[in-house]
Amino acid sequence: MNQVIIMGAGPAGLAAAYKLKQDKQVILLESENQVGGISKTIQYNGYYFDLGGHRFFTKFDEVNLFWNEILGSSFVRTPRLSRIYYRNRFFNYPLTPLNALFGVGIFDTVVIILSYLKSKLFPYPVEDTFEQWVSNRFGKRLYSIFFKTYTEKVWGIPCSQLEAEWSAQRIKGLSLTTAIINAVFKPKNSKIKTLIDEFDYPEYGPGMMYTAAKDKIESAGGRVLLKSKIIGVNHENYIIRSVDYSDSNGNVHQLAGDDFVSSIPITELIQILNPRPPAEVVKAAESLAYRSLITVDIIVNRPVLFPDNWIYIHSPEVKLGRIQNFKNWSRKMAPDPNKTSLGLEYFSTENDELWNLPDAELFKLAAAEVEKIKICNASEIEDYIVVRVPKAYPVYNTGYQKHLNIVKDYLQQFKNLQLAGRYGLFKYNNMDHSILTGFYAARNILEPHRHYDTWEINTEEEYHEMKKETASQKPVGI
Ligand SMILES: Cc1cc2nc3c(=O)[nH]c(=O)nc-3n(C[C@H](O)[C@H](O)[C@H](O)COP(=O)(O)OP(=O)(O)OC[C@H]3O[C@@H](n4cnc5c(N)ncnc54)[C@H](O)[C@@H]3O)c2cc1C
Repeated sequence: MNQVIIMGAGPAGLAAAYKLKQDKQVILLESENQVGGISKTIQYNGYYFDLGGHRFFTKFDEVNLFWNEILGSSFVRTPRLSRIYYRNRFFNYPLTPLNALFGVGIFDTVVIILSYLKSKLFPYPVEDTFEQWVSNRFGKRLYSIFFKTYTEKVWGIPCSQLEAEWSAQRIKGLSLTTAIINAVFKPKNSKIKTLIDEFDYPEYGPGMMYTAAKDKIESAGGRVLLKSKIIGVNHENYIIRSVDYSDSNGNVHQLAGDDFVSSIPITELIQILNPRPPAEVVKAAESLAYRSLITVDIIVNRPVLFPDNWIYIHSPEVKLGRIQNFKNWSRKMAPDPNKTSLGLEYFSTENDELWNLPDAELFKLAAAEVEKIKICNASEIEDYIVVRVPKAYPVYNTGYQKHLNIVKDYLQQFKNLQLAGRYGLFKYNNMDHSILTGFYAARNILEPHRHYDTWEINTEEEYHEMKKETASQKPVGI
């Protein structure tokens, strides 16, 4: 039986292994001590912390089937509430125009309307950047209140340097006019429940899903090697022969294979190819950037803090970007009903000032900020854990596509290499898209006469949170 080596055991790598497990000898190599990648769940003193919050939703039947086959009855259907915090007030998220306009006060409402009219009369002639794209649809003022600060917290670069592609993907087809029309003419008493209203979530967080997937792969004879970091990918004539990986003791091993699936960051793959790719490919890979995430997970000595699953913090006076309230995702995430566990999300870049702060300093900052925005008192926090997620977002800065194309063109020459996943393809993908790329990668190995293009998934997708019936509630934000 052919041996397939899968690099990385996040959702994409596990999905590929799951599809291949009956027909091939699969070996998954994962550098961490648990599977799930960004979608893993951290356990701390009986509490479960998601990295961010992972809603399970998809338009793809195949992915739904996969999730249900693995976890079926362990999903909870969770009612959704998420809001934006700005100037000491809460605004609906997804934004609803009347709530937004009335919430900002009469002066800003007038300015928003005037600036919207101005943008209609004198739009940016090109829509290359996030700023141009959003301003043309919502006006400069609404853009600066509800899009600019949070987006810049997430990406760490001015919106004028962020590709419009990202906004087009997330807030496709919406403008202030359509939003108002939809809000006014929204069918009353609509019975259609959408992901806007509720979503599925494993009762102990997303990690539960991927740990169960690992168990199923192993029961079918597949192998999952944890704490096994791939440090070399050896090739000749555009055929990969083997990978080198180091185990938890620092010992280096070599594993040969017939086919290879890579879901590790594409930039890392380029660095560890042996022999090295041409200089221009290495340079292009080095030009691709990631944004990182730090979560300061806290346990607060209060049974109820707020009703939302999560809150976006737009206020520029704090660095805090988003707050998750895990017991509002699933009761089982927080074992003590008298306490509340929150995930405080800070966006950063690996090795920047925030990233390098010691955990105790990060906690001090986070405690002061939640007190400042009146979520709870710092003195009520009784425990915390800091989790750093080095590559949380691929950054779509201006020109990134040119660099990515160079890397992609080079890697496509490899005859037995499949690329999959969010970082394997450098694509801002959710779990379902990542999983589907894993399935495609597996199919390319099982059906070599066919070609399933993993790069094509998600390019022309309507933002998957939406169903057509509810276009009035298209989400705007991240
Ligand atoms: C804050 C946040 C919130 C999110 N919310 C949602 C949501 O609500 N719904 C949703 O569907 N998606 C959500 N996502 C996206 C989701 O997390 C990703 O789409 C998904 O985890 C990507 O899976 P992957 O397998 O492609 O990559 P990853 O999850 O990154 O897995 C890659 C794996 O490769 C391993 N690896 C890397 N380098 C090496 C190496 N050299 N050797 C061995 N192993 C290596 C990593 O340790 C990791 O386990 C969110 C993401 C973030 C950051």
